[in-house]
Amino acid sequence: QSDTEGPDSTEGGSVAVTTTTKGLSAEAERRRTFAVISHPDAGKSTLTEALALHAKKISEAGAVHGKAGRKSTVSDWMEMEKARGISVSSTALQFNYHSSETPDEQINVINLVDTPGHSDFSEDTYRVLTAVDAAVMLIDAAKGLEPQTLKLFQVCRHRGIPVITVINKWDRPGQTPLELLDEISERIGLTPTPLYWPVGIAGDFRGLLRRGEDGEAREYVRFTRTAGGAKIAPEEVMDADAALAKEGSEWETAAEESELLSATGQDHDQEMFLAGQTSPVIFASAMLNFGVRQILDTLVELAPPPRGREDLSGKPREVTDPFSAVVFKVQAGMDTAHRDRLAFMRIVSGVFERGMVVTHAQTGKPFTTKYAQTVFGRERSTVESAFPGDVVGLVNATALAPGHTLYTEKKVEFPPIPSFAPEHFSILRAESAGKYKQFRRAVDQLDSEGVVQILRNDIRGDASPVMAAVGPMQFEVVAARMKAEFNVEAKMEPLGYALARRTDAASEVELNRQRGVEVFTRSDGVLLALVSDKWRLQYIQKELPDLTLEPLVAAA
Ligand code: GDP
Repeated sequence: QSDTEGPDSTEGGSVAVTTTTKGLSAEAERRRTFAVISHPDAGKSTLTEALALHAKKISEAGAVHGKAGRKSTVSDWMEMEKARGISVSSTALQFNYHSSETPDEQINVINLVDTPGHSDFSEDTYRVLTAVDAAVMLIDAAKGLEPQTLKLFQVCRHRGIPVITVINKWDRPGQTPLELLDEISERIGLTPTPLYWPVGIAGDFRGLLRRGEDGEAREYVRFTRTAGGAKIAPEEVMDADAALAKEGSEWETAAEESELLSATGQDHDQEMFLAGQTSPVIFASAMLNFGVRQILDTLVELAPPPRGREDLSGKPREVTDPFSAVVFKVQAGMDTAHRDRLAFMRIVSGVFERGMVVTHAQTGKPFTTKYAQTVFGRERSTVESAFPGDVVGLVNATALAPGHTLYTEKKVEFPPIPSFAPEHFSILRAESAGKYKQFRRAVDQLDSEGVVQILRNDIRGDASPVMAAVGPMQFEVVAARMKAEFNVEAKMEPLGYALARRTDAASEVELNRQRGVEVFTRSDGVLLALVSDKWRLQYIQKELPDLTLEPLVAAA
């Protein structure tokens, strides 16, 4: 057994796996697990391709993440997904990366966990953020902060996930860099601390000024376009004098602005970044491959490696402890031919080896991990071993649901993943009364998997529960799975509520008397008041301030 070899090193066909404490902490230390949070069209797919290109995972951008009209490898699993040309599945991309800032022998392992986020925005989008150690907030330079980015940012904030800001599409006309920074600090109270400042206005992206400790220009990285951005953009690195000679007033402007930022305290501070108070900023063009290396280097240099976690009782499980992992997402029916279920787990501690028998904390039952895979797009490959921070998909793991714990040796159970505030509600009924039993079974199954939240109350009765979800597409997932797996046709009827608030038994009667409000019990026992709109909510809160109406957010 070796101390230094990673998961992809092979010896005589089998993998040498590190299990010593020293080896394990080194494996954890070189890993970075992150997600990109963004609004649709900000450039997440393009950036994913560009990152993978830099990591030499693939040779040409455009080959990984398919969308209509592109070279396609979309992980489509349902007909509706194909019809719409979007990807329902969340996946994890792993690649090795060597930062030019680190010693030659240091190879980092980067895990990029995909956040589903178009019209398939769902609870899964949020749950992914429980599996990462950092987030890249990707912003369109012309559009600034957009709604979906804000929602995801709030989850990061609640969970204490440090955020690196990337301002994308700098090759296109947009706002000024200072306007964009102002928007970030004013709207979300996050202090932007640029590491790289653009040389050239939006639409005339020449390169990046690398900022030093107190805002002085450390160097200038000048980019050259490649055909269609399909190759890594050549970089020319020079000092301030050479930069001035080359770019003239564009350089002067950038240098002045960089000093201005220091005067207002917008310099990087590692502690404040890790505390979620500041965010390092990089300007980039994912399409042209400008600034992409800088994003990777920043992840390696500044983003935290995987750390241990506290269990339910507050006891820490260190990365060097025996194997443990948290399931953060379950996906069913990805492959229609096999109709399998994949449970994605994030490894918290120890080493994972395929075939290992682990214990499922929630049932106490043993679970064999013979079929362990990494999944990215359509590509699946068998995992032989994995380390803290890595994401592994387990095939046909029927008993596993988001938030569940798997472990070996020392028993551990991690706190459950919080459920997130639903914004879409729909009544669910079996099309034919004769199939009530199957219907009930299907509802329970999909509920326990966390596909939707199931709400009930006495007035509506058991035969027509209410589904609550973060995104409306989950309802179609429910209908499709009920038909495919339980042979039940389900009818759905939208319910005219837009918000959910946590309430209690003492407030229930009074709330049910209000117009536009209805109280339900969620399957975990929590009482939820559904409210028609925010004006109604504000009105009730003002008129009846003693009623309990607490916002449901991701618990820290
Ligand atoms: P996603 O919805 O966030 O995954 O966004 P995509 O990666 O699909 O990008 C949306 C659109 O923006 C596509 O037409 C991309 O080609 C374009 N795009 C992405 N990044 C850039 C960029 O850096 N510059 C320019 N000009 N266009 C970009």
